[in-house]
Amino acid sequence: MVDLTRPSLEERIRQMIAATGPMSLADYMSLCLADPQDGYYTAHRPIGAKGDFITAPEISQLFGELIGIWMRAAWQMSGRPTPFHLVELGPGRGTLMNDMLRVVCQDPEAAAALHIHLVDISPTLRAEQEATIAGFQQTKSWHETLDSLPSAPLFMIGNEFFDCLPIHQWVFSEGRWHERVIGLDERGALTFGIGPVRALSAPSQGRETRTTNGPVPEPGAILEHSPASEAIMAFIAGHLGAHGGAALFFDYGHAAPGYGDTFQAMSHHAHADPLRAPGRQDLTAHVNFDALRRTALAELAERPAHGLTVPAIMTQGDFLLVMGLLQRAGQLGAGQSPEMQGQLQDAVERLAGPDHMGKLFKCLALMPAGLPLPPHATA
Ligand code: SAH
Repeated sequence: MVDLTRPSLEERIRQMIAATGPMSLADYMSLCLADPQDGYYTAHRPIGAKGDFITAPEISQLFGELIGIWMRAAWQMSGRPTPFHLVELGPGRGTLMNDMLRVVCQDPEAAAALHIHLVDISPTLRAEQEATIAGFQQTKSWHETLDSLPSAPLFMIGNEFFDCLPIHQWVFSEGRWHERVIGLDERGALTFGIGPVRALSAPSQGRETRTTNGPVPEPGAILEHSPASEAIMAFIAGHLGAHGGAALFFDYGHAAPGYGDTFQAMSHHAHADPLRAPGRQDLTAHVNFDALRRTALAELAERPAHGLTVPAIMTQGDFLLVMGLLQRAGQLGAGQSPEMQGQLQDAVERLAGPDHMGKLFKCLALMPAGLPLPPHATA
């Protein structure tokens, strides 16, 4: 039942802005995505053909299976630590975990050692995850944040997790960086604006070079920065550095720093205005893989205990091809109907094709140095 007496999220956001002034994009994103009552992830079912977007594991089992092979190999080559803590961040409907588990459990020793962890803020999606992986009898733990993960080697995966973490944007105007904010126009509707100069918390991306030594940015240039993503990456690198394990993240984003506005809304598989319908459409930003990699490297430099490295960023297409995407698709299609084979070809194209996810999506790994696995083992 919809409670008509309760103000909508949009109404609450307008009230907050009226009371305390314009808000950062990061605060707006947090409210829209994670508000306990009306947040997009906390209160809706966003993923799938009927939802707002489709992710790689929902396109084909090939994605999760190849990642399962990677995880199993990373665990085996790390000396088979027991328990085998397999962790997924933002597991959505649980499809990727389910496909991975099938492959991981082909090794009886891995199956016996397995402990499954799912980190998600969404109660509705948690229920879906539980149903999707119900066929696996191993211990399962759900976590709202990473803090409650065990102090032990972790084998972690996250697909389209970082893109929904809040970002700040900075606009270059009159020779300085200003925070881009969300305020109210004269009719009381949400609108973008430019906030005061906040030199102290200037974005790390731009701090070193762009405003001082480098070329002066064009007026209106936009720089994005996600302290929340960097804090989570620092936690992960610190944890793996201290206890061992490996981690793999896929998302759309850029491997080199740069300017540009990537803040976007998705509704029913199409781009939408991010200031419309707060809490009822997905909000994301491209992931700055360069910043995440540098964060991880800086953290690991302080804890070299487990010899972890962060290989250069690889595209999703290259990763999947090196992991044997074409061979696996061929195996699955052998002896099947032309229709089934056509579907597999289509899935390969969507996952790895340069005009689909193959190039825009990137892969970042943290793993023991010398592990003969991609992204290290580039073809
Ligand atoms: N990995 C899935 C789903 C991606 S959507 C797939 O590929 O299909 C993003 C997922 O992250 C959702 O499950 C959402 O509930 C979860 N999520 C969003 N913000 C989060 C946060 N701050 N902490 C934990 N989980 C979060």
